[in-house]
Amino acid sequence: MKNYILVKHGNFIKVLAITIIIGLTISALTYLKYNKNVKTNAFVYENQINQNSTKEIILGASRLIIEDEKINTMSPVVSDNSSADIVTNTNEQETIDFNQSPIADFSKFGKFTIDGMTTEDYNTSKNLQWTRIKPDGEPEDLEIDLTRQYTYKELEDFMINLAKYDNVYLDIIGTTEQGRKIYSLSIDYSNGVAKDVVLTTGQTHALEFAGSVYILNQYSELIKQAQTDPSIKHKLENVSYHAIPVVNPDGREIIINCGDAIQKSNANGVDINRNFNSINAGQKANSINQNNSVKIAPGLGNFPGYTLGSEAETQAVMKWLETYITTSSGKVYLFDYHQMGRVTYSDKPWRPSSLENLTKNIQEQILSFLNSGVTSNHYAYVPEGSTYGLDGVGGTLTDYFVSVADGFKYNEDYQRMMYEVNGVGIPLFQFEDVDRFMESYKPANPNCIAMTIEIGPGPALGYGPTARNIMNNEYTDYNFSSLLVFIADLMLEK
Ligand SMILES: [Zn+2]
Repeated sequence: MKNYILVKHGNFIKVLAITIIIGLTISALTYLKYNKNVKTNAFVYENQINQNSTKEIILGASRLIIEDEKINTMSPVVSDNSSADIVTNTNEQETIDFNQSPIADFSKFGKFTIDGMTTEDYNTSKNLQWTRIKPDGEPEDLEIDLTRQYTYKELEDFMINLAKYDNVYLDIIGTTEQGRKIYSLSIDYSNGVAKDVVLTTGQTHALEFAGSVYILNQYSELIKQAQTDPSIKHKLENVSYHAIPVVNPDGREIIINCGDAIQKSNANGVDINRNFNSINAGQKANSINQNNSVKIAPGLGNFPGYTLGSEAETQAVMKWLETYITTSSGKVYLFDYHQMGRVTYSDKPWRPSSLENLTKNIQEQILSFLNSGVTSNHYAYVPEGSTYGLDGVGGTLTDYFVSVADGFKYNEDYQRMMYEVNGVGIPLFQFEDVDRFMESYKPANPNCIAMTIEIGPGPALGYGPTARNIMNNEYTDYNFSSLLVFIADLMLEK
């Protein structure tokens, strides 16, 4: 046995003491970071994903090479416009001759790392028909209990009951891989007044359960308050609310039925929040390193699909977002609920600066509202950084929302949403910022902003009893109960 003792007694105590000090330091730093910054939560979570995804990473490397080859053989865009000024990644002005195949030229700016949305899939999304459910009878006085577990069937029944109230509407807007219905729930007082629109989306990521039950609880409370409170009713006459409480019902039910799975994806192993055919999806500028969170095979999370817009859930949400952006003559504010540690994201660095400023302003007011009841552990804004949109990720629900709002169009040649300058589609890695080409900016709706709310804290992920208790306290402590009314007040301020 003595042969196995590697350090003498005195040294052993020193080593032990040093080990304990290092251990305590790491714990303290982790604790501090965890409470200050979601990036730590995201990192922990990414590690969990990575432990389960070694195969995906290996497969990914070979697919990336194939992608590179394919992109370089894409056919050129033909256009009547002969030239336009383009700003390169190095901020130098450069004139490009569009008749001489801009695609052949774009490799000096960047590349696409994900295939675009097929025309067939795009048309499928465009042509989706909604089915309205208008159940008979008086609504029952039901409540969401955030501490208990609900199956999707129970949430469906809850929504159907809400649709029995006047001015509440329930539409089936899509069907998932496993045959589940995707619903849109609306509170819309049809009084002929042009309204501002609040959109909320929840549980795009399967393991982030708070979004769905928060939305249903918020809607239920708002609908009931309007029955008795004239001031709430007045707000609803001027602001309409539309929500997809559960974007990813298949992933949700997979987690409930299989225990504690760490799954963001849908039943096909695609991360819906990377699958949108947005202006920034899978675009990598040459000057910026590839974001290594991207997975290139189906799995628990961060796989954007083999092609953008491939998933039924994505297609349903695309049509839904387009509908409200393009039919509203007022403001349209989108709040996408996730659950990664008490922060908000909203940066879309390529948007017109006026809209970036408006978004920041609204976000600050919402943050102080959420934080108004607590003295510490505040919700905080986390900047995306200037490389966002140019590092080969993107494709989120909010990315798609702002793409439509800003008037970007599906381009058949690139099979993705493009900004058109002088009538020619230009990849984001080439134009980088709309502010440089404002003369070509024709928004579909000039009053749209989007914000991601990461409901916290991190350990509430999943749907076990502890997670549900944390979610329940969070809802009360951070004023989620009155958030929708606060947003209406913000929108109605002149
Ligand atoms: Zn998420």
